[in-house]
Amino acid sequence: MTESLTSVRKKHLLINGEWVEAGEYSSIRSPYSGEIIAEIPMATEAETELAIEAAMNARQAMAKMPAHKRAEILENLVRSLQERAEEAAEIIALEAAKPIATARQEVSRTIETYKFAAEEAKRIHGETLPLDAARGGENRLAYTVREPIGVIGAITPFNFPMNLVAHKVGPAIASGNTIILKPASQTPLSSFFIAELLLEAGLPAGALNVVTGSGRVTGDKLVTDHRVSMITFTGSPAVGIGIRSKAGLKRVTLELGSNAAVIIDKGVDIDKIIPRCVTGAFAFQGQVCISLQRAYVHEDVYEEFVSKLVTETEKLTVGDPLDEKTDVSALISSGDIERTLSWIKEAESQGATVVAGGKSEGNILFPTIICDADSTMKVSCNEVFAPIVVINKVKNVEEAVELVNDSRYGLQAGIYTNDITTALNAADNLYVGGVMINDIPTFRVDNMPYGGVKESGTGREGLKYAVEEMTEMKLVVWNRN
Ligand code: NAP
Repeated sequence: MTESLTSVRKKHLLINGEWVEAGEYSSIRSPYSGEIIAEIPMATEAETELAIEAAMNARQAMAKMPAHKRAEILENLVRSLQERAEEAAEIIALEAAKPIATARQEVSRTIETYKFAAEEAKRIHGETLPLDAARGGENRLAYTVREPIGVIGAITPFNFPMNLVAHKVGPAIASGNTIILKPASQTPLSSFFIAELLLEAGLPAGALNVVTGSGRVTGDKLVTDHRVSMITFTGSPAVGIGIRSKAGLKRVTLELGSNAAVIIDKGVDIDKIIPRCVTGAFAFQGQVCISLQRAYVHEDVYEEFVSKLVTETEKLTVGDPLDEKTDVSALISSGDIERTLSWIKEAESQGATVVAGGKSEGNILFPTIICDADSTMKVSCNEVFAPIVVINKVKNVEEAVELVNDSRYGLQAGIYTNDITTALNAADNLYVGGVMINDIPTFRVDNMPYGGVKESGTGREGLKYAVEEMTEMKLVVWNRN
């Protein structure tokens, strides 16, 4: 591990291009070892106010910056992140307890996300409109342009501390906006790291400000301040719904939680799909918004699926996130261990069967498989955000589609089937933001439109789509009469 990462670091607020010492600090600990890893500023409302002011003042510089320059800043960031990729992965592993191999994948994805952002910066454009299609519209030239929305408040969760920040910072810079970033309190080190690289990459002072601290204080200030034109939030439904209700006329993008499901039809090659299902359910301890939480399996292949999933799951190695061999490490907090154990207990007491895991050691919950969990049990209807998957037997795909849709959430769903008509019908009838045919719901690459329906949120990320959300359409009409 890089030497600088082993010592406790004191970080500062980034306001107007300067690292500013805050009035108050708080320690963050490794979720795995419990050791203090950094001292983090707890921004007050007044300090958040300074960040908003800096972002307001930098607006003109960003809005007037040519597209090639915005792209160049992002390309510079990509290069330095490529050079320092291992350090970046270690930061993620340390603050989030993400197994190092998975943390490296997050860094590669982050690099790709910023590359897509650099490319997107060069293709933001409007369209010409045939106004003469309307009576009275003759002899007019009309076109739209897309202008930056202004100051964006970006609030991010702990689970992808680098790539989910990239999904907000990347398109915001690409489209000429300024940003105040409020990362999750447990995982701010990835944001500070990226902010350092962006300053070196040539981003003007004030274009990106980083304020850490309590979501209630800093988050609330961003959400309620009239100078902030948009809030882009990724996190839990409870916080997202609260933000939406306070944000007034601000544009709000909400990327929230889910209890994502997969359907497995008869005739599917179970051996082929088991490794994907293990990854979907247990990668980063199931703390992924599209983690595979529910599987609905056709009765013809149910027994085979359960027994093979258990066999492969029991081969997973639990342990230290910085150990190359670790597949599953600690949950983000000890409170999550208590919560998940009590949900497992509830399921068992109401007739479900735990066929793997179901126990903890320190902050690690062993990968857990539960059969016959009724749709009203917490492990099924709530977002578990832990290495837990429930498997239920179904008579046919239609029944499975109904069960998948019987949820407050709707982010992504997957279906494995060899039948084209079944796949097409499922794509029509699953009420989610994205349907994955012959894959787990956990599939995501960073340029695809990504977002949900129902309590999974509103709006889409994926660079092109985020740029649409982060720009205002303006109409220009020339009267030639
Ligand atoms: P969280 O508790 O909702 O926190 C997310 C962010 O909101 C943090 O920065 C948090 O700050 C801040 N916050 C808390 N209270 C706030 C308030 N009153 N006003 C404004 N901001 C506030 O979520 P999490 O536990 O970090 O992340 C897990 C959740 O994120 C899961 O539900 C998961 O499904 C969801 N998620 C969704 C997606 C997606 O793309 N759909 C992707 C990843 C994760 P503090 O840390 O200081 O509390």
